[in-house]
Amino acid sequence: MNDVFEMGPIRPPSEAQSLLIRVTRNCPWNKCEFCHTYKGETFSIRPPEEVKKDIDQIRAIAEEVRELSWKTGEAGQVSRAVLQRYFARPGQQSHAHQSVAGWLYDGGTQVFLQDGNSLMVKTSDLVEILQYLKTQFPSIRRITSYARARTMSRKTVEELKELKKAGLSRIHIGMETGYDPLLQFMKKGVTAEEQVRGGRNVVESGISLSEYVMPGLGGERWWREHAVETARVLNQINPDYIRLRTLYVRKNMPLYEKVANGEFVRPSDDQIIAEIRLFLETLDGIRSTVVSDHILNLLEEVQGKLPEEKGKMLKVIDRYLAWPPEERLRFRVGRRLGYLRSLDDLQDPALSSRIDHIIGEVRRSIQEAQGKDGEDPEIEKEIYGLMENYI
Ligand code: SF4
Repeated sequence: MNDVFEMGPIRPPSEAQSLLIRVTRNCPWNKCEFCHTYKGETFSIRPPEEVKKDIDQIRAIAEEVRELSWKTGEAGQVSRAVLQRYFARPGQQSHAHQSVAGWLYDGGTQVFLQDGNSLMVKTSDLVEILQYLKTQFPSIRRITSYARARTMSRKTVEELKELKKAGLSRIHIGMETGYDPLLQFMKKGVTAEEQVRGGRNVVESGISLSEYVMPGLGGERWWREHAVETARVLNQINPDYIRLRTLYVRKNMPLYEKVANGEFVRPSDDQIIAEIRLFLETLDGIRSTVVSDHILNLLEEVQGKLPEEKGKMLKVIDRYLAWPPEERLRFRVGRRLGYLRSLDDLQDPALSSRIDHIIGEVRRSIQEAQGKDGEDPEIEKEIYGLMENYI
């Protein structure tokens, strides 16, 4: 919490330009094995009056910023110069002030409702909040939120239509997998059937739908089932977006324990790429856009509109998988260091020689520490460690 208005900890990557309005705190489920975000925190729904007070605070900050713009001859526009002058004033460096001013600089058109499942709020209360928000900020064009599939399966299409009419434009669902045994193993608290029902309700209401899928979640044991069943569920939903976010297991996730005792083995990066290939191949009869907007994904280029760009996405994967092992290793190291975005980037001589230098250093240090050649499994561990920087 901050002293001006309340903000929760996370938002989807695609909401970087959104103003964050907290309508609930934490997650009502909070049991997923691969999630650490709200562990130890209690879920609560904020009363509409409290949320509206936050909106008033945001409006007061926005007015200060615009007033400064008028005073400095910029006619209410929030330019970089206005931002700099605003932040230079005493008392306006808080995260809340920065986020509102930055939001106006980005156009002031997008809002994301926090935290993990805002659709737990009673429909009439959420309508009240949405309407108030739009009245206070007529510039808003898009309002989005996370929601659990189970919650969506219990909302009626009519309720969702009401929310759409009040301004809710997109729902992000963390589907992760459509394979029932894996949903149980990961304690996701939802079934594939509920995911289909929840997703279809959103689509039918006309609210845009993003479904998040987690490559790697099936582990070595279930990677095929995970790929195929997840695609089959999505084939029945036809969401607007399918967003990929590759699994990374951190120490503060319950899943870490299962990794430590051998109950779960995360597939290698290359196995995950093969899994994504099978997943894409199985997607059929839908017009979703596949998005790879998370830095944890190895192949950022695997994105495009279905069905027309499926071939293009598969070609990127096939090109990578056809490379010799050392070339794939060089790409993985470069990607995890943040040097590379596309496969072609590896052709850059300067980047390429930096990557070779780093691999050489890592191999030498493994040899010194363990008295053996820097073997690939050891290097894989080092590469995996680099991913921690992006969480
Ligand atoms: S439902 Fe979402 S926020 Fe809640 S524990 Fe699961 S992954 Fe985390």
